[in-house]
Amino acid sequence: MKIVKSTNLKAKPDFTKLGFGKYFTDHMLVMDYEDGAWKEPEIVPYAPFEMAPASNVLHYAQGIFEGAKAYKNKEGKITVFRIDDNFKRMNRSAERMCMPTFDSEKVKKALFELIKLEADWIPTEPGTALYIRPTMIANEEVLGVHASHKYRFFIILSPVGSYYANGMKPTKILVEEHYVRAPLGGTGEAKCMGNYAASLYAGEKANKLGYDQALWLDSNEHKYVEEVGSMNMFFVIGDEVVTPALVGSILPGITRNSCIQVLKKYGYKISERRISMDEIVEAYNNGQLKESFGSGTAAVISPVGVIGYKGVDMVINNAEMGPITAFLYDKITGIQNERYEDEFGWITEIK
Ligand SMILES: *Cc1c(COP(=O)(O)O)cnc(C)c1O
Repeated sequence: MKIVKSTNLKAKPDFTKLGFGKYFTDHMLVMDYEDGAWKEPEIVPYAPFEMAPASNVLHYAQGIFEGAKAYKNKEGKITVFRIDDNFKRMNRSAERMCMPTFDSEKVKKALFELIKLEADWIPTEPGTALYIRPTMIANEEVLGVHASHKYRFFIILSPVGSYYANGMKPTKILVEEHYVRAPLGGTGEAKCMGNYAASLYAGEKANKLGYDQALWLDSNEHKYVEEVGSMNMFFVIGDEVVTPALVGSILPGITRNSCIQVLKKYGYKISERRISMDEIVEAYNNGQLKESFGSGTAAVISPVGVIGYKGVDMVINNAEMGPITAFLYDKITGIQNERYEDEFGWITEIK
């Protein structure tokens, strides 16, 4: 593989004050698609791309991405979490967006080379990681609306701290009753760029009203819970943990799947099913809504303290993190940081 090393290495940021996605490492992986085939991946210095103003991703948003994390322990051992699942999902997103699929084994190997080259960028403080952002964009200089014939795949790396500025403090979410994230038959299942652009308005609206994020409902009836921002949702009702079933409009989160596997293995009652706001309100009024949390690679587990719906703020577990939320956070981050044995086979060491 071709590797062009940067001759101008950047100063590292303060690893105790990283925030999320603000710093980027010295190198990136790039792979182009032309004439019906992917070229070989290359590692090159992190730098701006030159693109034609007519490049079709800039007009019609034919683009997809992923998010994963790498870790380094005190002995310098480097690991990644469930990276095969990210590449599998990315290829599914590619199919949905009429983009070419790629050889995930080859790309994974190239990614591992990139991570080894950037080993000094992997923070080791608690709660930190090296965030991995694989991205694919349409890159043909043409304004006609059709699937592009040229693509660029790239991976950039970013040392990150906790996703939310307030760390593990429970968040306040506002149920969005008018706007929807993705209709059935739309692109909600794919990790594509346009989903996010379409979600910003409701997010800003929630922020203005004093909430952290919007909670999306289904597009048909505005009745059933879908997900939040970049996280899947869980509710603890009585002794049942419920997460919305993957009906086609919900992003199939890898962290969501990790939560389900852990809960099953440890004997919790976990259901993937439709869950309506009526059911949540009723459970709240009966004192049965015990906990709620979101799951996603960036924050891992994020407790929900308040759900605002129809002018009422439902305060969950005194707006404190509940026991099942804490158990999952500890278990999943413990496997990621090797405090616990990798009993699910989620960790790959990069040698
Ligand atoms: C990426 C993402 C998630 C979380 O998926 P993970 O694989 O757990 O990181 C949830 N919802 C949306 C809309 C996403 O884009």
